[in-house]
Amino acid sequence: MSGNGMERLGFIGLGVMGTPMARHLISQGRDVTLWNRTKSKAYDLVALGAKWVESPGQLTEAVDAILICVSKSEDVQAVVNKLLPFLRPGQLVIDHSTILPKVAEGIAKQVAEKQGFFVDAPVTGGSMGANKGTLTIFMGGETEAVERAKAITAPFAKRAEHVGPSGAGQMTKMANQIAVGGALLGLCESLAFAQKAGLDVRKTCELLSQGAAGSWAFENYGPKILARDWEPGFSVTNQQKDFLYCQEAAKDLSFPLPMTELAHKLLAILEQEGRGGDTTAALYDVYLEMESEE
Ligand code: NAP
Repeated sequence: MSGNGMERLGFIGLGVMGTPMARHLISQGRDVTLWNRTKSKAYDLVALGAKWVESPGQLTEAVDAILICVSKSEDVQAVVNKLLPFLRPGQLVIDHSTILPKVAEGIAKQVAEKQGFFVDAPVTGGSMGANKGTLTIFMGGETEAVERAKAITAPFAKRAEHVGPSGAGQMTKMANQIAVGGALLGLCESLAFAQKAGLDVRKTCELLSQGAAGSWAFENYGPKILARDWEPGFSVTNQQKDFLYCQEAAKDLSFPLPMTELAHKLLAILEQEGRGGDTTAALYDVYLEMESEE
């Protein structure tokens, strides 16, 4: 199969991320067939020119390569289980969901047994990156399959990099999420401190974002905190899922993740308050509620 990206594509998982990713493919003239658990989420994309099928099996029969962007490890495995009976030799499955690296490795083996190819291809850049088509993709798998996946995903990626064999894409995403957690703690702790100190939080945020403390978190989540806009973006529930995967992957390496553990513990407070659907930047409120014990 050619590696020019112009293959017949199937897309499964039309959520916050999958919808704009599929939209970029369609708007760049790719041949896209959709299936989503909730059919209504496909209507706008069908109006833009995508085709709809009633099952993952029908989708597999209709395309050359399948892109998946669902939620957890179990969800990706459930979708793949529905594809496998229909998979033909040479078909490519690309998974953009964030899942456990060892689950990605297992799926790669299942797909290889059908003489298909699998690329674990988790993304970073958030919903903003998906909407702008500027995601970074970490790709794990065989070189030929990764090159094919790069051509297919070009409409929504500013960079796609081959980082190693199956599972390495997800392992890189774990490293990414560890750093994202630290940046989130830094942002929220710093701005809550500024608030407690009676500083102008808006000015503090603006000044800090332009110096050594500046980060993607300051740039993208700083304005959300100032506006108290807790719409995700990336939800607390999704972030907690990723932290659990980071911790499980680190356990297999006998490597501690003290900062990730703290971030996980603090975000759990939001979950207990029924705020799992809020953006992770809502962690700011947890900090505002904190008081020293003395
Ligand atoms: P989302 O908005 O919750 O969408 C999830 C999608 O997966 C929905 O279309 C949902 O179908 C589908 N789905 C979930 N479980 C399924 C199952 N068992 N069978 C079939 N379909 C299933 O999530 P998202 O924010 O787009 O995130 C998708 C993935 O990208 C996650 O792995 C997340 O960690 C990762 N990610 C997210 C971001 C972000 O900023 N949001 C950034 C980087 C990576 P329904 O429409 O029927 O609910």
